[in-house]
Amino acid sequence: MTQNDKVEADITTHNKNPLEIVKELLKSSVEDLGFNENIYHLLKKPIRVLEVSLPVRMDDGNIRNFTGYRSQHLDILGPTKGGIRFHPNVHIDEVKALSIWMSLKSAILDLPLGGGKGGVIVNPSELSERELEELSRTYIRKITPIIGPQKDIPAPDVNTSPTVMGWMVDEYDQLRGYNIPGMLTGKPIIIGGSQGRLAATGRGVVLTIREAAKVLKMDLSASTAALQGFGNVGSMTAKFLYKLGVKVVAVTNAKGGVYDKNGLDIPELLSFVKDGRSVSEYTKADPLTNEDLFGLPVDIFIPAAIENQITKNTAPAIQAKIVAEAANGPTTPAGDQILEEKNIFVIPDILCNAGGVTVSYFEWVQNEMNYYWKEEEVNKKLEERMVFGFENVLKMREEKNIRMRNAAYMVGINHIVKALRARSWIK
Ligand code: GLU
Repeated sequence: MTQNDKVEADITTHNKNPLEIVKELLKSSVEDLGFNENIYHLLKKPIRVLEVSLPVRMDDGNIRNFTGYRSQHLDILGPTKGGIRFHPNVHIDEVKALSIWMSLKSAILDLPLGGGKGGVIVNPSELSERELEELSRTYIRKITPIIGPQKDIPAPDVNTSPTVMGWMVDEYDQLRGYNIPGMLTGKPIIIGGSQGRLAATGRGVVLTIREAAKVLKMDLSASTAALQGFGNVGSMTAKFLYKLGVKVVAVTNAKGGVYDKNGLDIPELLSFVKDGRSVSEYTKADPLTNEDLFGLPVDIFIPAAIENQITKNTAPAIQAKIVAEAANGPTTPAGDQILEEKNIFVIPDILCNAGGVTVSYFEWVQNEMNYYWKEEEVNKKLEERMVFGFENVLKMREEKNIRMRNAAYMVGINHIVKALRARSWIK
């Protein structure tokens, strides 16, 4: 069984295919908004999906031929935009779903962008740095015909860092023959990255938690949180929660994690993982498994890893008042149903983690102007957008008496429909 067959089997037997999940939500939201079904048919498929083969000469002299994808969902509001992930479970349907979520995110925050996403089926921890660089450069070469600052603008996602973005932008510039920093975002600052981009997704997550706490009249400085995932998004989220006085009592990654009921020392944990160590190796707190994470008595639960984590098996244990979806697609429909029954306030992914693409948009704007902003300016603009998005989703939720997730879909679809009308795709 190949890796992709295994994933196919996994998503069909155990978890729901993310593309089916997003399609169901699109369909029901279009209906609930009272729109014609044609709108669903326009939104359910990406406008373009490319599959590429990525041969890499490995350090042992052999060639391994990886598979990559790039999906562009909709370009009626602007160029498509979204990250590239390196993960063994990347699947074409997952990449398509992620590109649809990107369109909705940008629409909710009123960014003049459409949705895109890329992925490579690879476990990057099995590759040497040289192999990874070759893979990154080959991927960009292969998708070059369909990307560009006015067409489709990639960015980091799971397991892709500013370093990877640096390799990719360099490859693209060399192909084109001149410097085009706006072809991709999340770059190192010295070659056109934006101040505040690295922390943006986590900062945005915490801004939405702050807004949700106002709705629920919760005092954040007396609240506790548990986090699944301590990559870029998870670690930055922990940092900003800690700054707000929230006690972050548990953090895990794929290998497990740590728990301290009095609150973890997040600055210390951040410096502990800086040189590549895992949170699970931290010995100044109790060890914790990913299974036990779900049942902790905390106020805020934050999935900040990958899809399909809050399921019919894990959701019953969750005791939090707020679930903040820092990851994309962390909750299955069955898990979601359970959160609803428990009356948990869910900040849906397409709102919660939209801070990343927002500052990516600012990075692209700065690249196109070749004029750069100070970090305070970036952060101020990010806060305005996040609060704007949160308020619109909350208003929709209150008007229609629905859940935050459905409200977020509706706000996003409403925005896209305005553009469809303006272009006469629909009457
Ligand atoms: N990968 C991030 C996301 O899922 C950021 C995308 C971007 O910056 O374009 O939102």
